[in-house]
Amino acid sequence: MNSALTIGNKKTLRNGIEAPLLGYGTFESAPDDVGNGVRWAIEAGYRHIDTAKAYGNEAEVGSAIRASGVARETLFIATKVWMDDYPDVNGAFESAARKLKTDYIDLFMLHWPGTDETLRYKAYETLLKLESEGKIHASGVSNFMVEHLESLKGVFGAYPLYNQIQVHPWGRQPDLYAFCEKNEIAVAAWGPLMHGHLKEVTELARLAEAYGRSPAQITLRWHLQRGNIVLPKSLHNERIIENADLFGFELSQGDMDFIDSLERDWHWGPDAYSFNG
Ligand code: NDP
Repeated sequence: MNSALTIGNKKTLRNGIEAPLLGYGTFESAPDDVGNGVRWAIEAGYRHIDTAKAYGNEAEVGSAIRASGVARETLFIATKVWMDDYPDVNGAFESAARKLKTDYIDLFMLHWPGTDETLRYKAYETLLKLESEGKIHASGVSNFMVEHLESLKGVFGAYPLYNQIQVHPWGRQPDLYAFCEKNEIAVAAWGPLMHGHLKEVTELARLAEAYGRSPAQITLRWHLQRGNIVLPKSLHNERIIENADLFGFELSQGDMDFIDSLERDWHWGPDAYSFNG
């Protein structure tokens, strides 16, 4: 099954929309640099691009997509609403679509839960309306913990389709991950290469040697074999190519379990329960 994975593989969200498993991340990619990154990623075969209002580069991402000449409908463009826009998600959609130079957004998500539940529900309700109007093809959330997901189900009657969360060998968020799997919430792994800290995971060198691959490729393949959508970021063409070259080998179950065993509850970034932007 896993050996059949290809760069074209997609994850089907509960509403039938298909998201390519391999996405190109654009966090901390400056507006002047991101265009080259997106161009190289599309040339390397990525068809899923992940950005956000908060990254300050949607306009340049949109220009690079348009310049690529690749048909819009073959691309999956994902972006996120920042918390300051939760009172006006319709406005956030108009702004993101304009910057990205697209009529519709494939996946539009709430970037963080925020602490104001009323505002979160209002934002999510508008997201669902945008989805029912066809302006976005899928609604999603990011950095939502089990409690946040449960409360959305309580208010709206269904779990979100997609949750983008930090997942990597030192921090798999196993309970949240299992909850999402059980409830058919697609998981996308942000920080899949540990935001540049991957070299500290010295155990990966042995696996890299054994498979004749780089530690980054071993790690990204581990993500794919776990069924994650994965969003590696690089601004170097050779790494962008390397990070997409994941389909000619397969990790054994023993090695998958070994990478799982590296878990140490290590996370980078804000706390999802208290972060308000
Ligand atoms: P990643 O885990 O993708 O790591 C990126 C870092 O790894 C960069 O320093 C990059 O350097 C380096 N790198 C990339 N490829 C390789 C390689 N083959 N070998 C060695 N080093 C490599 O970090 P991100 O935090 O950027 O996460 C990925 C994406 O996830 C983001 O870009 C964004 O789209 C999303 N994200 C979402 C968040 C959310 O809250 N929803 C939060 C954070 C990220 P270089 O660029 O110099 O190559």
